[in-house]
Amino acid sequence: MTLTEAAALLQKNKSGLRKDGSQFTKIVATVGPACSAPDKLLELVQAGVDVFRLNFSHGSHEDHLQVIQRIQAINKEHNLHIGILADLQGPKLRVGKIKDNALPLEEGDVITITNDENAPGVKDNIYMSYDQFAEDCEVGERILMDDGKLIFEVVETNKKDTVRLKALHGGVLSSNKGVNLPDTNVKLPALTEKDQEDLDFILTQDVNWIALSFVRRAEDLKPVKDALERTGHQAKVMAKIEKPEAVRNLREIIRACNGIMVARGDLGVEMPIEKLAMTQKDIISMCMQYARPVIVATQMMDSMINNPSPTRAEVTDVANAVLDGADAVMLSGETSVGKYPKLVIQYMSKIITEAEKQYWPQISNRRPSPSPQFMLYHSDVIIFSACNVAEEIGAKGIVGHTVSGYTAFKLSSFRPKSNIFIFSDQLVKLGAFNLLWGVQCFFYNRFTTTDETIQDCVDILKESGYVKSGDTIINTGSMPMGARKPTNMLKVTDVE
Ligand code: PGA
Ligand code: MN
Repeated sequence: MTLTEAAALLQKNKSGLRKDGSQFTKIVATVGPACSAPDKLLELVQAGVDVFRLNFSHGSHEDHLQVIQRIQAINKEHNLHIGILADLQGPKLRVGKIKDNALPLEEGDVITITNDENAPGVKDNIYMSYDQFAEDCEVGERILMDDGKLIFEVVETNKKDTVRLKALHGGVLSSNKGVNLPDTNVKLPALTEKDQEDLDFILTQDVNWIALSFVRRAEDLKPVKDALERTGHQAKVMAKIEKPEAVRNLREIIRACNGIMVARGDLGVEMPIEKLAMTQKDIISMCMQYARPVIVATQMMDSMINNPSPTRAEVTDVANAVLDGADAVMLSGETSVGKYPKLVIQYMSKIITEAEKQYWPQISNRRPSPSPQFMLYHSDVIIFSACNVAEEIGAKGIVGHTVSGYTAFKLSSFRPKSNIFIFSDQLVKLGAFNLLWGVQCFFYNRFTTTDETIQDCVDILKESGYVKSGDTIINTGSMPMGARKPTNMLKVTDVE
């Protein structure tokens, strides 16, 4: 397939909208049995997926390897930079096996949690994957199971290996269900043994993002960042915000990572659920200030796991995430195990397109202002100015060149009214930039004069259908080009 054909394919499948810059908000889809076949993955890309998430809570390394290779093959064949996000499970707590996979519990029933991995899973002996639980919990704390469907209170702990819980809200407990401890000071390490093994595998692969679950503070990211530095891996680091503690430490976590996920599944269980909507907005606006991409995740199109169309609430949720300023919206079960993965992406893409028609009138007052705190370098001023010039003259796009990614992240954070075309010779990072709001990625590794580079970019953009003769684009870059210094140049280019 030629570049032009690939571009035409994308154009068609994005309803022709991507090319004139109408679709800026990205789509992340979780891979699972429902979409992991090569033709299914391609179908989802054609429908609008920008980044695939591999959930390391499920599947073997072999499964993940196969998916990684399939996505890379699609990128190669179609000249795309679809990103891969490897999502580490983190210290997620679970109960063990439950006898007959069902334990009905009523309000007032008391159950016993133990450290015995072979516990029979009956009322007075249930295993939980947290050996220090008895030590760390206190009488009166709340314990939630199965996404908060069952609610308990600690009534007794021997501070060694046994805890008794009273059901405040009953239900049927089944095997391996997740446990949330919103009140407990959980002392587990940020990276579990399983995470370490998964990370060792992930580092052998060219994934673009590595996400860590249940981050509590900035230091939690350190083991992942150290491993990247040690191995020279180029992946960017994402922190999943799913603990109230992380919300309290948000600023330091944002500073310490490259991107954020509003992980509403666990966050909605761990904090009062009525606070979730406003917390989402707060997280997104702080991420925009610090130029960190932010994903809104979980239950966006949940009913489509089983149904061929979304609910009114879901359509509204996706549109509102767009208007909140999210870089990307994410699908979990909808694409990994649902009945209609392709249809979900098509719906999501259409909802995004509609919402974005109202984007600037709605969001302009939330776009980051150039306060001195966020304009630290000359390059920041050039990048901000490029966005303003583009808007003033109605430019089709802004071209940025980057090695580190700084220009890409910063350009995107200002949410300009035109496309952002990022050129880089850093292949793995290009897949990471594909998550960023409004960014289209191009591999470019010719080291030549500024004039020739500008012309090359115009040629590539024309050939791939993003611009045509008569359009105007804004070129940014660093002169002299070969020195690979921060952005120091801004030029208005009329496309011939
Ligand atoms: P998960 O994370 O799907 O890995 O649990 C997302 C969330 O909690 O929302
Ligand atoms: Mn989670």
